[in-house]
Amino acid sequence: MSVDILIKCLSTFGAMSGLNINVGKSCLYTAGIHGQELEDILALTNLPVGTMPFQYLGIPLAAEKLKVSSYDSFTNKISTYIGAWSTSSLSYVGRAEFVRAVLQGVECFWLSIFPIPATVTSKIISLCRRFLWGSKKSLVAWNQICLPKHEGGLGFRDIKSWNAALLSKTLCNIHSKKDCLWIKWINEVHLRGSDIWKYKVRKGDSPLLKRLLEIRDTVRGKLQTKDRLWYLQIDRKCPFCALTDESTQHLFFSCRFCREVWDHIRDWLAIRRSMSTLLSSLKWMKKEARGKSWPSRAKRIALATTVYYIWMERNKCIFEGIKPQVESIGFKPLLAHLFSFARSRVCPE
Ligand SMILES: [Zn+2]
Repeated sequence: MSVDILIKCLSTFGAMSGLNINVGKSCLYTAGIHGQELEDILALTNLPVGTMPFQYLGIPLAAEKLKVSSYDSFTNKISTYIGAWSTSSLSYVGRAEFVRAVLQGVECFWLSIFPIPATVTSKIISLCRRFLWGSKKSLVAWNQICLPKHEGGLGFRDIKSWNAALLSKTLCNIHSKKDCLWIKWINEVHLRGSDIWKYKVRKGDSPLLKRLLEIRDTVRGKLQTKDRLWYLQIDRKCPFCALTDESTQHLFFSCRFCREVWDHIRDWLAIRRSMSTLLSSLKWMKKEARGKSWPSRAKRIALATTVYYIWMERNKCIFEGIKPQVESIGFKPLLAHLFSFARSRVCPE
């Protein structure tokens, strides 16, 4: 029935636009459909049967977990790019820029779609490392190279973290029920009305969904504030006010030091609502800071950067003994982020 509707839709589209299905370049891929049902579908579509895995828009599609060999086209593409440039024809700076801009650009496409296995990640790092250093032995460890420039690295992205960050976008899409087929399928077939944040992994879930749930558990409530480090003999007091024990809620929202930071941000961006908990702040963001207007974008960036800088200031205070300053968190860093965001929109790399 659904195949019949699909074929009729495509026929109508073809009749109106002139863009018809090219039978010579099309195949029918099925999973778990056999016998008469398959025969009926083949008769209806008039397409030959294809076998999985196959490539679609350069990406392998399979009905089961992808094998490491399925990622060969990905690693081969990186090798081809590298092979086109002999290391001797580029300076060290040129090679570093090539890895950062070109190779990591190629990686972005795959990393935003699949959880990349550790074997493949190691292979890519090895290719990039060899290209960067030429035939020489690596002079600096790769995890140091992946630090931001102001921390002494070259600003390369760490593939594993980057993969998780890009896939977490899919998590947001499932949460917001984005109008796309795969998201609809996950919501209808797997979640069946339940919330992605409360969903418990099941045996038959796809490897991608399982990985997304792992990322969900990593990003949710896993920040190592002192109340979680119960097994360590440490001072548990908040490093900012030293009045109460440090917890996520206190550190980011209840502490008087952070309230002063939030007051600055709210005044500057004319936000009326006070930021009292992470959950209420996220609800506020979803309701009032949605959309593509600059004030909405600025508010969203403000929430994310303020939480980030509070954490950085907390770490500097604990590990480097630097006295916390409201100014280090408030206006200046936020302005820098907004400026950087605006520049990326005006002159995309
Ligand atoms: Zn405090």
